Amino acid sequence: MDPTYPPEAEAFRREVRAFLQAHLPPGWEGMGALSNEEAETFSITWRRTLFESGMLGITWPKEYGGGGRSKVEQVVLAEELAKARVPTGRVTDTTSVKMMGNTLLRWGTEQQKVRYLPRILSGEDVWVQGYSEPDAGSDLGSVALRAVRDGDDWVINGQKIWTSRGHEGNWIFLLARTDPDAPKHRGVSFLLCPLDVPGVEVRPIRVLTGLSEFCEVFFTDVRIPIGNIVGQPSGGWAVAMSLLGHERGEEAATNPIFFRAELDRLVELARSCGRDRDPIIRDRLAWCYMKVEVMRFLGYRILTGYLRSGELGPEASVSKLYWSEYHQVAADLAMTILGARALVREGRRPFRHFRTDEPGAPNNSNSWIDVCLLNARSGTVYAGTSQIQRNIIGETILGLPKEPVVGIGTDRR
Ligand SMILES: Cc1cc2nc3c(=O)[nH]c(=O)nc-3n(C[C@H](O)[C@H](O)[C@H](O)COP(=O)(O)OP(=O)(O)OC[C@H]3O[C@@H](n4cnc5c(N)ncnc54)[C@H](O)[C@@H]3O)c2cc1C
Repeated sequence: MDPTYPPEAEAFRREVRAFLQAHLPPGWEGMGALSNEEAETFSITWRRTLFESGMLGITWPKEYGGGGRSKVEQVVLAEELAKARVPTGRVTDTTSVKMMGNTLLRWGTEQQKVRYLPRILSGEDVWVQGYSEPDAGSDLGSVALRAVRDGDDWVINGQKIWTSRGHEGNWIFLLARTDPDAPKHRGVSFLLCPLDVPGVEVRPIRVLTGLSEFCEVFFTDVRIPIGNIVGQPSGGWAVAMSLLGHERGEEAATNPIFFRAELDRLVELARSCGRDRDPIIRDRLAWCYMKVEVMRFLGYRILTGYLRSGELGPEASVSKLYWSEYHQVAADLAMTILGARALVREGRRPFRHFRTDEPGAPNNSNSWIDVCLLNARSGTVYAGTSQIQRNIIGETILGLPKEPVVGIGTDRR
């Protein structure tokens, strides 16, 4: 383990720090210290600042609006932004910039890159992910949404589900079945569909928090030009899998920062609730501390590999499994500490629900109820369930025999 950054990356770090000093308001504590309306306004303005300073899509070539920098510099940027308590973009940039943009860079035609990439960075286009269906989640090879060639169009019929922020996007990338006679994952294509065309209906789903974070998306005789495909017809599986590889990004560097900040808040919560002398609570807090420290070293280890090869290996699955399962235990502890107070919602509701609350958030019951109790549940499901991560770790890291395939399933990975 040697997460040492090359000198040019350290020079870039100094540049980022100067940029932060110049652009953050004095006394900045993090978006959690703002009201939700203020946080919304700040996050829009902040994204624009990042874009105008070349800090969105910083590894993308300059001709597409990117910053033309290295992957190591991208990690440095994410690290510094996390330490400064500011986001790397809007929530939808995970699917727009990280997933769609990076996938187009790898698989798109020149025409597609020129057309779509600058609009992703400017925020004119917001992309959402249309993979899951009611009968295709972990077994993504079972997607049934159909796209049939008709003249110069694809005609799409079917349904997607769990589309995060589907109501905020204007484009969706779809995994669609284009050859029903081919073996499951050989008959799918990766299609690009606007969300504002006739036949598309986006229906928000209400989740445990009472909010609508994701949607169902229905397609009835939706027509898109045949050119709205990435890769070859029925050759979309490789494109779809490489997109998933971009989902984790720089998490190895930033997760330990976010979870440590959350743990500090949890310790403070124990103090303020008069539970910090309780030996059982102390023992459980110590366990959390140990887990977050291990997360930090695990992050260093993953980063070491990344700094050497420029690629995230299957270790990213260890990281995903680790933080998502840790978080549910920490959530349970927060509820125990709050005791009866956990039954009463008080204070501001979190602006961001996934992973941890925004840095600077007040230590009130709403923060812990929404982020930890309710949303930490989904951490072990989205981006590949815990069971699927264990399959990947078993097969690709430990070299265990592949699990027996019942039917023709293909794990999401
Ligand atoms: C908050 C959230 C946001 C999401 N956002 C999106 C999005 O934007 N776009 C999108 O396309 N999808 C999205 N999803 C869907 C997500 O990718 C799926 O929920 C996930 O892949 C699991 O699929 P499933 O829900 O169909 O469960 P299933 O695949 O039906 O799994 C059910 C259970 O069986 C287990 N299981 C399944 N297969 C195996 C196996 N081979 N070995 C062992 N156990 C197995 C699973 O681990 C799980 O416990 C989101 C989900 C959540 C919770």
